[in-house]
Amino acid sequence: MEPQPEPSKKKVRIATTWLDGCSGCHMSFLDIDQKIADVAPMFDLVYGPLVDFKEFPEGVDVTLVEGAVSSEDDEKKIRLIRNRSYLVVSFGDCAVTANVPGMRNQFKIDDILKRGYVENASHNPGSPHVGVPKLLKGARPVHEFVNVDVFLPGCPPPSEAILLALSELLEGRIPDLTGKTRFGA
Ligand code: SF4
Repeated sequence: MEPQPEPSKKKVRIATTWLDGCSGCHMSFLDIDQKIADVAPMFDLVYGPLVDFKEFPEGVDVTLVEGAVSSEDDEKKIRLIRNRSYLVVSFGDCAVTANVPGMRNQFKIDDILKRGYVENASHNPGSPHVGVPKLLKGARPVHEFVNVDVFLPGCPPPSEAILLALSELLEGRIPDLTGKTRFGA
């Protein structure tokens, strides 16, 4: 009897997104650089700022979420992501603790908008109200809204830690990141 070829392994569907973050965590993801070639054949990037898909798809295996939940749009998005993702990773300190976006929590929203768009405006002072998402009272970590499976701290997490987490997740394991990253890393 002829040996049968091994069934090809299904590719893992990975998504990334950012909520209230500075994109630095995604920059650190890009810093993985050519080492991504070791794991790239194992996954498809199905959504995120690094690819050009408009809708968050169904049936995502792992989603890396950068940033805190700060607006009504963020909250709607993270709930949709949770519903459509098997695993959710809090990606970076802003997602894990609210970090920088959380610094606004000690002030009233009206005062923040006044400071940013009126007092510091060099021309056309006035808070934007049309076409911008309504801010929540405070910026909060992702796990205060939805269940989070993996926490990947760091500001940003080092690219080595991101690659380790990705490699482990692609092998179906929850990564042990002890000693690989830390808050503010
Ligand atoms: S954790 Fe740091 S690098 Fe990542 S989004 Fe927040 S401020 Fe930017």
